[in-house]
Amino acid sequence: MASIYIHFPWCLAKCPYCDFVSYATTRDDIDHTGYADAVIREAEARARCLESDGPRRVSSVFFGGGTPSLWDPRELGRVLKRLRGLFTVDADAEISVECNPTSLDRDRARALVDAGANRLSIGTQSLRQEQLRFLGRLHDPAGAQAAVAAAIEVGVPRVSTDLIFGLPGQTPEDAREQAEALADAGLRHLSCYQLTIEPGTQFGERKKRGLLPMADDGAVADSFLAIDETLERRGLRHYEISNYAAEGEEARHNLAYWRGEEYVGLGCGAFGYVRTRADEAASGGGDRRDAVGDGADGRVGVGDGNDGRVGGVRWRNAIVPNDYVARTKTMRSDAIGESDGVTVMREALSPEALLRERIMLGLRVAEGVDLGRAGRDLDVDPWTPERLRTVDALAERGRVVREGDVLRVPRAAWLFTDDTASRLF
Ligand code: SF4
Repeated sequence: MASIYIHFPWCLAKCPYCDFVSYATTRDDIDHTGYADAVIREAEARARCLESDGPRRVSSVFFGGGTPSLWDPRELGRVLKRLRGLFTVDADAEISVECNPTSLDRDRARALVDAGANRLSIGTQSLRQEQLRFLGRLHDPAGAQAAVAAAIEVGVPRVSTDLIFGLPGQTPEDAREQAEALADAGLRHLSCYQLTIEPGTQFGERKKRGLLPMADDGAVADSFLAIDETLERRGLRHYEISNYAAEGEEARHNLAYWRGEEYVGLGCGAFGYVRTRADEAASGGGDRRDAVGDGADGRVGVGDGNDGRVGGVRWRNAIVPNDYVARTKTMRSDAIGESDGVTVMREALSPEALLRERIMLGLRVAEGVDLGRAGRDLDVDPWTPERLRTVDALAERGRVVREGDVLRVPRAAWLFTDDTASRLF
C-alpha cells in the first residue's frame, strides 16, 4: 500500500508561523494549467521509475500545501485523473484536499467533489478574531464557520478542520469552547495543533529577538487536556496526539504516514519515500535498487553503522515553483536522485533509521507501534538489550505500556511522547 502526496505551493499570504513550502501570490498570478502539466510530467516519470517494483496499490491521495483550494478544480481533477491512469488507485481511495476559508465556498466545494475529492481539510485555526489576527490569517471567524458549513451542506463526504491552541493569553476554557463549537458544527474529524515556533519563520525571528509573546506552558498543557476531554465526550476519539475522529473517520493518509508506509511525493518541495529491499541493496543488484538506489554509481553511503544496508529512500523536489516546473520538462525516469533533474535531496535510510522513525511516529497514535512487526518488516532486531531496559524504566514511570510486541503511550502521558520516543532510539 502506498499513498500519493501532491504539493501546491501558493497561498494568498504567508502566515508568520508557517515553515511549509508556500509562497504568497494573487489568484491571477498562478499558472494553474502550467503547474498541473508539471505535476503530471513528474508523476509520469516517477511512475515509470517505480514500476519495476510491481504495482503499488494507492489507498489515499492528498493535495496539500500551500493552499490547494486556490487551484482551479478542473486542473486538480486533471491531475487526479492522470494519477488514476498511472497508479493503481483504489476505487474507494481517500482523496483529500486542504482548503482555506478564503478559497472555499459552496461552489468551490462542489467543484472539488466533482473533480474527485471526497475529503476536505479546512484551515479554520481559530474562531477568535484577535487570535486569527495574531496568526496572520486572512479569514475571520464567520468566514471559517461559513466555509465549514458550505462543505457540509453541499455533501462533501468527509470534512475536517484544523484548530491551533497554545496561543499567548489563551485559557483552557477558550480552547474548550472552540473545540465544542467545531463539534457543534457537525465536524467528525478535527486536527488540533499546539502552536510551535519554527526557526526561519517570522515568529521564529520575533522570538529570537524577544518580541514574541509566548503562552504559559501550564496553560498550553491544560488546553490540550481540555480539548481532549471535550472532543472525547463528543464522540471524537483522540486517535493521534493531534487528531480526533468519529469511528471510521480517521485520516487514512496520515495513518499510513504514521505507520511508515510508502508515499510518492509530487510537486514543488514535496517529499517522497519508498522502501528498498535490504537484501538487494546489500547485494548491490536488482532493478529496484537501480531505480531507487543512489541513481548514480550503485554505491550507497548511509553512514549509519549498518554495513551499507538500505531500508528506504527519501527524496525532496526542487522548492522554487518556476525552477520545479522547468526541471520537470527534462526530467529523467531511470532513477530517483539528483540525476533525475527534479530531486534536489535524496537520502538513503538504513533499516535502523527507519525503525527509529517507526517508533517516533508510531508512538503518536493511540494504537501504538508493533515493534515485532516493524522488526520483521525491516529485518532488524527491535528488542536490543538497551531498548528493553529503557522500555522497562519508562513503563515503571507510566510513560509507555508494553503489550507483547506493541508499545504505546497511555493518554495520561501523551504530553511527554516526544521525549519518550527519543529515549527509545
Ligand atoms: S495558509 Fe497554511 S500553508 Fe499557507 S502560509 Fe498559512 S499556514 Fe502556511
